[in-house]
Amino acid sequence: MLGCIAAVAGANPAHNDHVITRDICVIGGGAAGTYAAVRLGDMNQSVIVIEHKDRLGGNTQTFTDPITGAKADIGVQVWHVLDIVKNFFSRFNVPLTTTQTTASSVEFIDFTNGAKLKGYPGNQGNLTVALQAYAAQLAKYPFLDAGFDLPDPVPTDLLMPFGDFVAKYNLSAAMTVLPDFAAGLGTLTKYPTLYFMKVAGLTILQSIQTGFYTTAHHDNSEIYQNAQAALLAADSLLLNSHIVATERGNNGGPVKLVVSTPSGHRVIQAKKIIFAIPPTLENLHNFDIDSEERHLFEQFSTTGYYTGLLRNSGVPANAGTITDRGLHTTFHVPKLPNIFSTYASAILGLQQVFYGSDTVLPIDQVKHSIITTMQQIFPNATATVPPVFAVFSSHSPFVFMVPSSAIKAGFYRKLSNLQGHRHMFYAGAAFQTQDSSLIWQFIEGLLPHVVA
Ligand SMILES: Cc1cc2nc3c(=O)[nH]c(=O)nc-3n(C[C@H](O)[C@H](O)[C@H](O)COP(=O)(O)OP(=O)(O)OC[C@H]3O[C@@H](n4cnc5c(N)ncnc54)[C@H](O)[C@@H]3O)c2cc1C
Repeated sequence: MLGCIAAVAGANPAHNDHVITRDICVIGGGAAGTYAAVRLGDMNQSVIVIEHKDRLGGNTQTFTDPITGAKADIGVQVWHVLDIVKNFFSRFNVPLTTTQTTASSVEFIDFTNGAKLKGYPGNQGNLTVALQAYAAQLAKYPFLDAGFDLPDPVPTDLLMPFGDFVAKYNLSAAMTVLPDFAAGLGTLTKYPTLYFMKVAGLTILQSIQTGFYTTAHHDNSEIYQNAQAALLAADSLLLNSHIVATERGNNGGPVKLVVSTPSGHRVIQAKKIIFAIPPTLENLHNFDIDSEERHLFEQFSTTGYYTGLLRNSGVPANAGTITDRGLHTTFHVPKLPNIFSTYASAILGLQQVFYGSDTVLPIDQVKHSIITTMQQIFPNATATVPPVFAVFSSHSPFVFMVPSSAIKAGFYRKLSNLQGHRHMFYAGAAFQTQDSSLIWQFIEGLLPHVVA
């Protein structure tokens, strides 16, 4: 078998330098893959991480101003105040500080036309009461904290569109703040309540009150840079690399993977794989997935999430956070695709913009939409040049979802059963939620099964 896959690789298996033997091969070096690789090392497992970019961190991205050297985090901003987070940062000597996320000055406008929402959010009811009512609903479903280990049958409230759920439990006042913790979820009222509760769960509610961790150096990528250095030093990381082919087999014996690296193709022999990249059919294309796996992964639909820093944005320098709320939408959720919030970044003169969509859109279309919307809403009579991106980033595909009919029919039970199937385990947001801290908790539960 090795001879066969080595032929794909163009590598001669007689040459040992072409064959990398490890206990575990981790695909992807974002929040999930990096954490899994580091913790597997603690468990005396040898590891190799395959990351297609030139850096670890995934959605954790920090822009450095080429002129001033000032930094702004344009992806992940905060983590929960949990020991698992504190321990991970402390082992890489990255100091943390605690922040309150409640913005001091928030303005609500409809980004489709720039109209202000008069009387909002005060006219939506009692926020504290509504958040307590939402928390009481969340407390009914403690299993939501850990992956998608859903009971059978799945509670009907979790299957109903979230807008219906909000109406049923009179939570409209909570909708003045909760959408901001479910960024990237698309038009959240139309998807099964399960997905909203996964993104905005009890841990988020608690953190809204107690604050979050962020990095004291205001450089959220530092943790990944330090992890990258440690993994490279341990010969446990291939950057700018991707999988070309796999042979996972059905029974015992090592898994074989062919990896394209900057120095040519390499063959990896490992006992297990941890798949920690978005599970799109495109990303799974070079894996020898079977019909059972394909049948599940092809059911996912995904949202789009984009961020960028704009020069000449036209937004007044003294503006606070400007958040999108639909004038005429149900519970005033933003009408997407559109910008759903913007604020002054940590770099003087650069405005951070967040853009959401129910589907993945072409990057040029999103950029054009952002620029024209900003020009329309924040016309800048004094500027001689239009808004321009200092940096733009697509974090798409972002949230992975299936329809309520599929959830009801046991989609997530079947997905959970894939853990370990043909030597492959799955980590990452699609298997937990878009929350780095909670992904790390999920991985702590997963790794004992991986190394068993
Ligand atoms: C703008 C924004 C703000 C956010 N803010 C927060 C926040 O404040 N706090 C928080 O906890 N979470 C936040 N999140 C969510 C958080 O980013 C995710 O939960 C987390 O990054 C998911 O980790 P992951 O490892 O599953 O995916 P990713 O971080 O996306 O990592 C996937 C990795 O796999 C690599 N990869 C992809 N395809 C391949 C391939 N074919 N071969 C090899 N490598 C590949 C990617 O380059 C990447 O490094 C935010 C997300 C965004 C987009």
